[in-house]
Amino acid sequence: MTQQTPLSPPEFPKICTGLINGELADVAGAHLLDVINPATGKTLLELAENSPEQVNKAVQSAHAAFMNGVWSCAPISQRQSVLLKAAELIKQRADSLAALDVYTTGLVFHRSARPQIFAGASWFEYFAGRIGTQDDKLFRQLPETHTLVTREAVGTAGLFTPWNIPFQGACLKLAAALAAGNSCVLKPSEQSPLGAEALVTILHEAGLPRGVLHVVNGRGPETGAALAQHPLVQAISFTGGENGGRAIAIAAAQRFAKVTMELGGKSANIIFDDADYDRALDGAIMAIYANNGQACLAGSRIFVHAKIADRFIADFIARTHNIRIGDPFDAATELGPQSSQAHMQRVLSFCDIARQDNCEVLEQGSTQAEHGYYISPSVVLAHDNKTRVCQEEIFGPFATFLVFDDDDAVIAAANDTRFGLAGYIWTADLKRGHRTASALRSGYVLLNTPMVRERNAPFGGYGFSGVDREGGEWSLNFYTEPKTMVVPYGNAPIPKLGKS
Ligand code: NAD
Repeated sequence: MTQQTPLSPPEFPKICTGLINGELADVAGAHLLDVINPATGKTLLELAENSPEQVNKAVQSAHAAFMNGVWSCAPISQRQSVLLKAAELIKQRADSLAALDVYTTGLVFHRSARPQIFAGASWFEYFAGRIGTQDDKLFRQLPETHTLVTREAVGTAGLFTPWNIPFQGACLKLAAALAAGNSCVLKPSEQSPLGAEALVTILHEAGLPRGVLHVVNGRGPETGAALAQHPLVQAISFTGGENGGRAIAIAAAQRFAKVTMELGGKSANIIFDDADYDRALDGAIMAIYANNGQACLAGSRIFVHAKIADRFIADFIARTHNIRIGDPFDAATELGPQSSQAHMQRVLSFCDIARQDNCEVLEQGSTQAEHGYYISPSVVLAHDNKTRVCQEEIFGPFATFLVFDDDDAVIAAANDTRFGLAGYIWTADLKRGHRTASALRSGYVLLNTPMVRERNAPFGGYGFSGVDREGGEWSLNFYTEPKTMVVPYGNAPIPKLGKS
């Protein structure tokens, strides 16, 4: 464990709740939830859950703002300047915003939380630029007629974010939805509610009119369900787990609301024998331990070629021993605590599950502190891709190795999963790399690189990893409806029905 840094925590309010019309929601009689600091296991503050009536108030207000056009009909230049100002404020306050994520999630300040704040700001910058170059279409196939296709905001968007990327996840959704002119109701994870409130305050300060954006807080099946089921929410963008995603998709289907689902993964990381060994090793370690191992795109199934497997796995384990576990504010820390006690226990339980499935447990993860949810990484060697450690998203510092010696067989095994989010390939042979990349049934494939995010490109997955995509024009298409306008400029004859 790295040492506890003597940083005094920010002054948290005793109670956090939703922000409706820019004002804190009434907390009288609310169900209270503990918001816990994973680094200490102690309660930071209480979250007063928003009731369905409060959710209704937020959605009604967002809808009214949409209909009166204060934002939806605002000039693009006005929207751009609000988004750019918000980006500037986010960057100015990066340290305190990152601290909010650290205190509620245990994300490592220097490696995860702070870079995610800057990534969040850059989504506002990106969509401010992107909305200015959004082009409409003109078709002329019909004689003497202009057919125009424009895109306009959908209406009120319900935005659901998870605890593992609290601030950045909210920025990605809000930047695109607001750039397109929508009203929004944001529902952050009940484990990490603080950044959302700070972000909405920043947007108001940047000039976003009141009424356009609200935050509601509480448990998924309570507050979240009220938002997902609200008839005035026309688009839902969800990032989270399978169960929540399914419940929300079913609610949305009842009224044919649009949905985008960014769900989990069990991504393959394929290391061929001709790979740049050192880079592949660095990449494999990053792909499973970054973000405390709690990343949707984790390279959690590491397929390593038989010719290099013994050496690669031994080197991976040696590096794993050196991973610095500790206080998420400590500059030396590489792996912070897991997000909650239940999650920590679930991650650790997979070593027994692996043994039951005849996998070899090469490193048994264990708790690392009396207080706080610190664990050391686990490494297992599986002999069958059907085992649970190869099929289930563990979402922690838990690496599963599989050894292969045939290119076609490894592609088949990599695709033998219900998920299909990311895929990593390491090889010096570009033909082999392209062939494998083309064959992987995954939405985002990285060749000879750990995760990098291209903002113009779609991000999302096949199968149980999600529905639709986020990023670039995919986000803007989701938050807009196409509208066709047919405008003749000639006098083509109209059949005169009913005229004798
Ligand atoms: P989660 O599904 O528990 O919660 C996500 C959000 O949905 C929260 O705000 C929660 O309160 C709400 N929610 C949950 N159940 C609900 C319900 N029945 N009705 C309405 N709302 C509900 O997810 P989590 O545990 O916070 O996040 C971890 C998961 O998110 C992992 O599976 C991870 O892979 C996934 N994730 C995916 C991506 C991606 O881009 N694909 C990115 C980050 C995280």
